Amino acid sequence: MIYYKTEEEIELIRESCLWVCKTLAYAGSLLKPGVTGAYIDAKAEEFIRDNNGVPGFKGYGGFPGTLCISINEQVVHGIPSDRPFEDGDIVSLDCGVIMNEYNGDAAYTFALGDVAEETMELLRVTKESLYRGIDQAVKGNRIGDIGYAIQNFAERQKGYGIVRELVGHGIGKALHEDPEVPNYGRRGRGILMKENLVIAIEPMVNLKTKHVVQEKDGWTIRTKDKKPSAHYEHTVVVKKNKAEILSDHSFIEEMIKSNQELKQV
Ligand code: MG
Ligand code: MG
Repeated sequence: MIYYKTEEEIELIRESCLWVCKTLAYAGSLLKPGVTGAYIDAKAEEFIRDNNGVPGFKGYGGFPGTLCISINEQVVHGIPSDRPFEDGDIVSLDCGVIMNEYNGDAAYTFALGDVAEETMELLRVTKESLYRGIDQAVKGNRIGDIGYAIQNFAERQKGYGIVRELVGHGIGKALHEDPEVPNYGRRGRGILMKENLVIAIEPMVNLKTKHVVQEKDGWTIRTKDKKPSAHYEHTVVVKKNKAEILSDHSFIEEMIKSNQELKQV
């Protein structure tokens, strides 16, 4: 069942997404070697609650954290832990915030210190693939057009592996609503998009193999070959000529510019 949103609902989702991105910028600003995910997660939760939000992931399906923190070969759904970050790590922070009953969702993969150039290229291509997917989220296109654009760029042109098992999603009062938004697909396939469909688009792109496995913790997804994986996510609303991006990575990217510990993607 797909719920198209009213303009009022879209504004509420935008507000939630704003706090997601402010939280990601704040959490990202704390990233440095020696700091742990558990520490950053606790600070992120405090930040969200201080601003009258509710962490959208905490308790969702039993997830224990405010953030999903996925390091290097971890793709998504990493549980914040006491593992200290190291120079050269890539760290995906994924955050959900609920305000006024509506969810916001966004993610960003940060490059901590001296990250290998081949991994930096993976990050750049994954981020670019997100925007290529967003370009297709317009009225009259089909869901498969989004996945095709992402897959065609990241997999066919650049040779990376697109994760199949996890996908983007509709979002609103529920964190995960219909439709599913795969990061692979065929042009002209899938549901026809109408105006005011709100979806989270979130390519997960692996340096080598597309195959993933789940860790014994029951959450963390990692690459089968233990090579790095990147993840960027925006919540967007389908419009007539151009999708509108409700989340805003500029808070994050401004913070990165003035942070010595982080490399710009
Ligand atoms: Mg997310
Ligand atoms: Mg999501």
